[in-house]
Amino acid sequence: MEQESIRVLPGIGPKKAELFARLGVRTLGELVRFFPRDYEDRTRLLPVASLEVDTPACFLATVVTEPHTHRIPKGGGRATEITKLTVADHTGRLNLTFFNASFSVQRLHRGESYCFYGTVTGDYLGYAMVNPQFEPLDATGGVTRSIVPIYPLTAGLSSRQVAQAVQHALERVALPETLPERLRRDYDLCGAEEAYRQIHEPRSMEALEAARRRLVFEEFFHFSLALALMRTRRTVQHTAPYDTRRAAPFFAALPFRLTGAQQRAIDEIFEDFRRGVPMSRLVQGDVGSGKTMVAAAAACCAAKNGAQVALMAPTELLARQHYERLAPMLGALGISCGLLVGSMTPKQKAQCREALQAGTIDLIVGTHALFSEATVFKRLGLVIADEQHRFGVAQRAALLRKGEQPHLLIMSATPIPRTLALFLYGDLDVSVIDELPPGRQQVDTFLVDERYRRRLNAFIRKQADEGHQVFIVCPAIEENGTDDLKAAEQWAQTLQEQVFPQLRVALLHGKMRGAEKEAVMQAFAEGEFDLLVSTTVIEVGVDVPNATLMVVENAERFGLSQLHQLRGRIGRGSAKSYCVLVSETRSDETRKRLKALCATSDGFRIAEEDLQQRGPGDFFGSRQHGLPLFRLGGLVRDMSILRDAQNAAAELLASGETLPEALRTQVDALLTEENPA
Ligand code: ADP
Ligand code: MG
Repeated sequence: MEQESIRVLPGIGPKKAELFARLGVRTLGELVRFFPRDYEDRTRLLPVASLEVDTPACFLATVVTEPHTHRIPKGGGRATEITKLTVADHTGRLNLTFFNASFSVQRLHRGESYCFYGTVTGDYLGYAMVNPQFEPLDATGGVTRSIVPIYPLTAGLSSRQVAQAVQHALERVALPETLPERLRRDYDLCGAEEAYRQIHEPRSMEALEAARRRLVFEEFFHFSLALALMRTRRTVQHTAPYDTRRAAPFFAALPFRLTGAQQRAIDEIFEDFRRGVPMSRLVQGDVGSGKTMVAAAAACCAAKNGAQVALMAPTELLARQHYERLAPMLGALGISCGLLVGSMTPKQKAQCREALQAGTIDLIVGTHALFSEATVFKRLGLVIADEQHRFGVAQRAALLRKGEQPHLLIMSATPIPRTLALFLYGDLDVSVIDELPPGRQQVDTFLVDERYRRRLNAFIRKQADEGHQVFIVCPAIEENGTDDLKAAEQWAQTLQEQVFPQLRVALLHGKMRGAEKEAVMQAFAEGEFDLLVSTTVIEVGVDVPNATLMVVENAERFGLSQLHQLRGRIGRGSAKSYCVLVSETRSDETRKRLKALCATSDGFRIAEEDLQQRGPGDFFGSRQHGLPLFRLGGLVRDMSILRDAQNAAAELLASGETLPEALRTQVDALLTEENPA
């Protein structure tokens, strides 16, 4: 049984179980899905003379000197034991050194042969191998050649112990086959049982590769299927078509002309509204491309057709900003707006919820708390998620389960390369806003090193003297001794006390509580500070039009897309704006990367570049952005498997066959988990 606790396995008591829990492994099912991070290939035996420095390898050799152990006293009555001996085969000799291994070294005898596994290190003073693994030859003089799995470890658990537990678990659980047989044949994939056995204890490198391919395929296949299922479930639903002409007053009241791209996005949304099928649409547009107006047009149209609209923002501050911007505008058109955020009093919240249930609020703006159980809508027709990178598959599925089939509009400023977007948002239609409103300016971006510090400080002072504000972004929050990262906390203090005593410096970092962060951000937005020193927490959508300069310290630590997102925080007002990347990097590669950012402001080009260079793991800067995490699959490395899996999912659904039970279970789990995959 997959759900059984690993405590049922021999040798696993409460203490061991606790160690496994630290690795996220509690059940047998989790244990067999705890994959090795690497393997030691002991199937190929090399002659001693051909061992290469720094490359782990396996070889047969005979002990030719008596092992000699001496002790080096350390403090506290303890000692380090060093054992030295020499081994040789017909091609050459090698010195071995063992530290604190007297127990296992006792098993080594002069004149006998062993199979060793280790890494040669050394330089012109001589080569040696430290603490190699070894095994005696068996009765026939042979060795067990194997590929040994290396597991991610936690203190107190050895890779061998994990391997043993996994083998026991594999004997107990029957692994469900989730891939239909025909599909396995068509795509040349091995069975589940075989795959799990080979990934943990590979018979050969070929078998390992085949196992990995099958498991990666499976992961991608489940995910693709989940997306496709959501899409089909949606398209057979019906909603009352909206009469989009009722939104006319909105356009008449606009203070500016929409850009062509905004107009196109709105047309696409309205087309969806008229069809009478719930919309699932992603609007992608670079920072500052004017997504809010597109959302407002959609909201107005829905409200004018008698529907309630919920606009969800990732932070309370952003929710407030939206509310303050939209309420007067839409209010003037007879649309009543409300705000529902965590910091309101229980009484205020209750009143707001009552109004929602009674249907007297047309547009409610808030954080995801909007969708807590307590909120009941009278006639929810449209949900807009702004900058909700975490609005993943599971959240989208949860919304569907609300039963009301509202239209769904997701706004994102993260330019996602097509290949990834297809995958992450395969269940959504996409509108792209690829044009900035007129008058929005380019942010001039420069790359400098420490030699410019003085001039940079003078520039910061000048911006502040002119009444503008400055963002200073640092990669980490605490000084960590080992390197010279500009830690936000420390840096804020230095700037305030030593560099700019006459300016008002604020600090914002990820370890602060939500309310604390918002208070600081709010105060900065209201002009109470000149400088805001922060970690990347300012990434998301807050508007401070008066900020004209952003300085990024240790810029080499950031991904290009992330820097681009950060840079989008400035240049929102009428004054000329600048972004200064400070980096001491010596790597030409990195300099080239950062220079690319200075040269272009096209978010999509930057995203593609970033994806190529760093891979999707780093693409969003961190895990927090709702990018599904796969146990084995890499979205770039395994792109061709990904395509196959997508095709297979589409074929299976098109065939109309019912999904095997095991497959259904897996896919449903993806649609209900908090963090899919
Ligand atoms: P984002 O796409 O980053 O959410 P916003 O919707 O916040 O961008 O818009 C950025 C700024 O541009 C806002 O101040 C908004 O009022 C302004 N804006 C939006 N559309 C237009 C337009 N068509 N013409 C001029 N200004 C616009
Ligand atoms: Mg926005």
